Amino acid sequence: MIVRAGVLYDGTLEPPKRRVDVVIADGSIAEIRAATGECDLEAACVTPGLVNAHAHLEGSGEPDMMGMIQTTTPNQRLLRAVENARKSVKAGVTTIRDVGSSNSIAPDVRDAIVEGRIPGPRMRAAGAVLCMTGGHGWPIGRAVDSPWDGRKAVREQMWIGADCIKMIATGGVLTKGAVPGNAQLTYDELAAAIDEAHRHGLRVAAHAIGTEGIKNALRAGIDSIEHGTMLDDEAMALFKERNVYLVPTLSAPTCILAHLEDGHQPRYIVEKARGLSDMMLANIRRAYENGVRIAGGSDAGTPYNYHEDYAQELELMWSLIGMTPQQALHAATNVAAELVGLHHGIVAVGEPADLLLLTRDAGEDVRAVREPQLVFKNGAIQ
Ligand SMILES: [Zn+2]
Repeated sequence: MIVRAGVLYDGTLEPPKRRVDVVIADGSIAEIRAATGECDLEAACVTPGLVNAHAHLEGSGEPDMMGMIQTTTPNQRLLRAVENARKSVKAGVTTIRDVGSSNSIAPDVRDAIVEGRIPGPRMRAAGAVLCMTGGHGWPIGRAVDSPWDGRKAVREQMWIGADCIKMIATGGVLTKGAVPGNAQLTYDELAAAIDEAHRHGLRVAAHAIGTEGIKNALRAGIDSIEHGTMLDDEAMALFKERNVYLVPTLSAPTCILAHLEDGHQPRYIVEKARGLSDMMLANIRRAYENGVRIAGGSDAGTPYNYHEDYAQELELMWSLIGMTPQQALHAATNVAAELVGLHHGIVAVGEPADLLLLTRDAGEDVRAVREPQLVFKNGAIQ
């Protein structure tokens, strides 16, 4: 299969290549060469498939996600996760990391995709989030109340098939009573569970909004900070010193705040999101300008934040954080893929053929990724 690109963004920050053929064989990229002779498909623009490093497949954007978890059956949520996996990949998300699900839904969906039973992205899945008793995320959580219990919780997630771990370092927006600025799991609990996960080769992500919790997680050896809203100069230095990824999930508060008036979201969600949004913009922008590694992830599944809308996260990295369209593409392909750790998220020889074919130049306008003409995963049209 030969795909001819008017312009190719390979996922890196190298200048784009014009008029090239991408040759696909056995699901991988076999060659990239100057356009010549016949081709099978032509697109104005080709990019790597998108990587969403922060999603919850069982959530479909319900206004009260944690309430939904408590009022639906595991079977109902599994079916929604299957539907959302299909919607993700059709919209161009060829790799996804599910950072928290109930009832081992995400690891099971991942396996069904690998076995070819259902369509969906290549995937990593965390299983339940590790949280303090009654803390943020408890409806999809495994309560952890000591360092040794943290090790056991990691082992339990591995047992149900998790291939990454998610920990809750601070309060959050979606859980009633959880104050986003407050630290939750302690440094000792984080450090023990992270050590246990690393011993088995699993990476660990921390939900962290408040400053103290962000630093606890960074000092404890975390691989990525999710949200990172209240980071300060000291945290920024720790990010860089330890080469930790920041996944800002700009879509999450943006979607909540875009639906203030419809009255379906619990009051506490709206109020907490309102209190955080300006801080988020200022701090994430500063982190980006200071060279913190930003990886694309939308928190899809949270209120009004749909799996098929991942393009919005790229648009927000461009419009709110000040990335160029190519930098936003880089963050949502190459950088996010390096964090997820399944492939490199670039168009290069030997990489899996995960490609978006677009009708216009995404480097001129990042909104071009919104409606791909075709999506390839492993060389197969989705
Ligand atoms: Zn999340």
